[in-house]
Amino acid sequence: MKKLENKVMLITYSDSMGNNLQDLRSVLNRHFKKAIGGVHILPFFPSSGDRGFAPVDYHKVDPAFGDWSDVEGLAEDYYLMFDYMINHISAQSEYYKDFLAKKDDSKYKDLFIRYKDFWENGEPTEAEVDAIYKRKPRAPYVDAQFADGTSEKVWCTFDEEQIDINCKSDTAKAFIADNLTTLCKHGVAMIRLDAFAYATKKAGTSCFFIEPDVWEFLQDCEKVLEPYEVELLPEIHEHYSMQMRIAQKDFYVYDFALPMLLIHALYYGKTQYLKHWLDICPRKQFTTLDTHDGIGVVDVKDLLPDEEIERTKEDIFQFGANVKKIYNTAAYNNLDIYQVNCSYYSALGDDDSAYLLARAVQFFAPGIPQVYYVGLMAGKNDLKLLEETKVGRNINRHYYSLEEIEQEVQRPVVQQLITLMEFRNTHPAFDGDFAMDTCTDTQLHIVRTNEKHRAELLADFRTKQFVISYTEDGATKQLQM
Ligand code: BGC
Repeated sequence: MKKLENKVMLITYSDSMGNNLQDLRSVLNRHFKKAIGGVHILPFFPSSGDRGFAPVDYHKVDPAFGDWSDVEGLAEDYYLMFDYMINHISAQSEYYKDFLAKKDDSKYKDLFIRYKDFWENGEPTEAEVDAIYKRKPRAPYVDAQFADGTSEKVWCTFDEEQIDINCKSDTAKAFIADNLTTLCKHGVAMIRLDAFAYATKKAGTSCFFIEPDVWEFLQDCEKVLEPYEVELLPEIHEHYSMQMRIAQKDFYVYDFALPMLLIHALYYGKTQYLKHWLDICPRKQFTTLDTHDGIGVVDVKDLLPDEEIERTKEDIFQFGANVKKIYNTAAYNNLDIYQVNCSYYSALGDDDSAYLLARAVQFFAPGIPQVYYVGLMAGKNDLKLLEETKVGRNINRHYYSLEEIEQEVQRPVVQQLITLMEFRNTHPAFDGDFAMDTCTDTQLHIVRTNEKHRAELLADFRTKQFVISYTEDGATKQLQM
């Protein structure tokens, strides 16, 4: 089973490139073997909602995707990342069903957050509700209807299918340890701790990223993973200072600021904000341009001035291809108003040059790059899926058949992207230092060095042209794309 490597990580669902995990493995081995080093397989457990993010049982693979042998097969070829939804579990899980059936006699009675126990008087005050960092315009709960005919409120941050876990209880601690251990035994190299900041709840606070609890959770998880040499990647979309604090504790972090900063630089031909971030961003990180969620906006606060954020967000609807504001509203079942639903390629106006430049910068930036499967195909917005489902995020969740991939992969932009990815995965300079050379405000000049090895990117954001040069056997060459 492969361990984490400094090579591009693909993000994909099990049924996005072909129908299942076997198709996925064969298509990756056929076309992307050298371009991809790892795979983040988005949640593949049986689930009752949110495309896998309402997991029923971590001991099982959804039979529609395959079984554990398919997952472990992939782990032989690529290092793997799995999700662990620490904040919640499915309303259809045996745990929650047992709680509903037996209430106080259920062995899972402490696994959930019961309002009657959590709040001083069994209910939050208005001020306490206001203080919560929430995804709904009201207190976050569902009414649990018990078999004995009674009901009570239990905490529910996201969808009604995703019931929050009382992470501080001993029952939850044992539950989390058991689930993480199960994942470790099936070939995982890294665990993404989904929406973990919501797991820290304390009455009277924002119930989001509460210290020191948040560090205790992360350390508890780390202890479980340690014997298996599995790494942890906490996922949070918020102000970059939070990522910085997590990085200071030596955890891996996501770079969710890069996507908007690059869009800004490419729209307006100015690199000053991008350069500032590249200068200060954590080094032990995973860079993204696109994921299964929208393009993060809150992540870039104070890295771009407010009016530049507003302007960029507005202009995505103008310069982007086939993207409308309404896709980010309740009409399209949107959960997160701080994200823009759009494929990255379409956000850049389906423009090959701008897109390849964005990827080149991502691959030269500090950290390990992640490429979402739609991005790997330089995929456009999927308006058909969006309209059929009325789910905003589905604009960037196209289902590729194997035949479609055979065609798409021939497009010059995809071939060029593959060349870039293979270069990023094989040149030794990327295991070394990152530096930027001085250049004009419309340019960016990145130099990566590792002892005698050197790779350079010189880009012009007005023309979207760039040159990559590198050392090989003592000579300097240019990457031909
Ligand atoms: C995931 C989302 C999901 C949410 C709840 C996130 O941060 O990336 O796709 O809806 O957590 O699990």
